[in-house]
Amino acid sequence: MVIVHEGRFASIRTCDAGTCNRLFFDSTKNQSRRYCTGRGCAARTHSANFRQREEEKKP
Ligand SMILES: [Zn+2]
Repeated sequence: MVIVHEGRFASIRTCDAGTCNRLFFDSTKNQSRRYCTGRGCAARTHSANFRQREEEKKP
């Protein structure tokens, strides 16, 4: 769902965390937010990025 907020486009999105389906307001430029502001959800993003980086190190 795309809405206009203060003259800018933004989306109402559903949190990507498996155990959470809260709605959040994504006003990032490229709509790249995937998680709500819940503690566990935000932390998930960081650990996922870290894991991906670790994978890339492997030969
Ligand atoms: Zn969430």
